Amino acid sequence: MSEEQKKVHKFSTTMDDFVRFLVAKTDDSKCPGCGSKSWTVIGSDETQMAYRMVTPMRDGPTPTYLNFFGIYCNECGFVRQHVARKVKQWVDENPVQEQLELEEISDDDLE
Ligand SMILES: [Zn+2]
Repeated sequence: MSEEQKKVHKFSTTMDDFVRFLVAKTDDSKCPGCGSKSWTVIGSDETQMAYRMVTPMRDGPTPTYLNFFGIYCNECGFVRQHVARKVKQWVDENPVQEQLELEEISDDDLE
């Protein structure tokens, strides 16, 4: 499948980027329900995008919406959510640096 310029939401994030966020921010965190450290990202296997879940909120005439991404515990099913704006902000500030894998690192670079 070619790269498609679909309309995506400004907070859309790949599952890989969401996982990078989770490792950076919450690595090794335990499930508050059962203590397991085994989680599954809620997303699409087909598109590799994290599902952006939306909750309408209303305290006035116009509803507003909270966007978030989720993971669930593989043992007890506890669902954990992270606000999409925070995830996207971190991803934008911490892009994948693929070029580093292509460069040879010599001992001189490690001073
Ligand atoms: Zn659990």
